[in-house]
Amino acid sequence: MNLARKAVGIVLVFSVCTCCLSAAKKAYGNGNRKNLRSMRYTSRAKDQAILWQKELRAKFAALLKINDLLSSKTPIPFNPKTFSSDKREKHVFHEMEINSTKNRRIKIVLTLPTNLKGPRPAVIAISGHGGTRHTCYEKASYSRFAHVLAQKGYVTISTSVSRHKVYEKGRTLMGERLWDLMRCVDFLTSLKQVDSQRIGCGGNSLGGEMVMWLGAMDRRLKANVSSGFLTRMDQMEKNHCMCWKFPGLRQLVDFADIYAMIAPRALLCQNGWKEPPSQFPVPLAREALKEIKPIYADFKRSENLVHVAHKAGHAIDLPTLLAFFDKHLGAREQPASAGWTPVHEAGIKRIVSRSRTEQEN
Ligand SMILES: [Zn+2]
Repeated sequence: MNLARKAVGIVLVFSVCTCCLSAAKKAYGNGNRKNLRSMRYTSRAKDQAILWQKELRAKFAALLKINDLLSSKTPIPFNPKTFSSDKREKHVFHEMEINSTKNRRIKIVLTLPTNLKGPRPAVIAISGHGGTRHTCYEKASYSRFAHVLAQKGYVTISTSVSRHKVYEKGRTLMGERLWDLMRCVDFLTSLKQVDSQRIGCGGNSLGGEMVMWLGAMDRRLKANVSSGFLTRMDQMEKNHCMCWKFPGLRQLVDFADIYAMIAPRALLCQNGWKEPPSQFPVPLAREALKEIKPIYADFKRSENLVHVAHKAGHAIDLPTLLAFFDKHLGAREQPASAGWTPVHEAGIKRIVSRSRTEQEN
């Protein structure tokens, strides 16, 4: 895992200072293992599985402290500002800024295919620790997957989630990260260039973790590629930045349960054989996968859950990512038309909170 300097500092503190460790355990209520994972998924009828997902979404909205944002009936205007628009091969690369909350703006990259004819599928690209909104377009360890998708005719969007600072009083780090990504989905659905029924997300490392959260909490995501993350929480207690954890999390679930909230929507998890045992190794991922499979079987959609063990390490496997998005988001080559369309808001009536979380499996 590519840890930011601050993250390394946190890990060192946790690894050498038993006072801090016990204080953290006290803060997170992790001292008594009997109290962990009270909402673990076990096989049940489809309607009960839907209720389980709905209940967990409500609990997480509260724990992540984004309840007010999700339940608000008043859409937050984007007030988009475009800093630059760079015409590249088969797409235009926009540097922009939008409102995330009423008081906070986020920088985004938005790419639109040059030859647009009708609404296109879209993918939110999410980088890991130390990453920026440009990482998924530029870095070899990400196979530049966002750039490749942009060239293939997908709309893509990216914002940074790698910071460790909480910006607004009363929020949580994971809640703010997740909300920023939900706002990217909101923004995509406001664009006439985007087919709102064909939105996916992909990321590696912390990006893979945020794919898990975004897919779990926002039902608009139809295809989810989580790379370099599928594991167990016990593993993440050691040798990792602890930013994955927040009060109340472990008492409810393990990671497999959060992934299970994505069912029956399409989920691809990738882990590399070159991951060291202390990171995100394939055998441990396969153990976690066994715990995600039952809910897909309960929905009778087992084919929508895929795990790929690839030859590399902590990286995106590009061929299987592309094939997965093409299959589930239905990318089709578009005939040439009248050139690119400027970015603008086409309307925001669809972004009320219900559309993110309401159940219609
Ligand atoms: Zn971190």
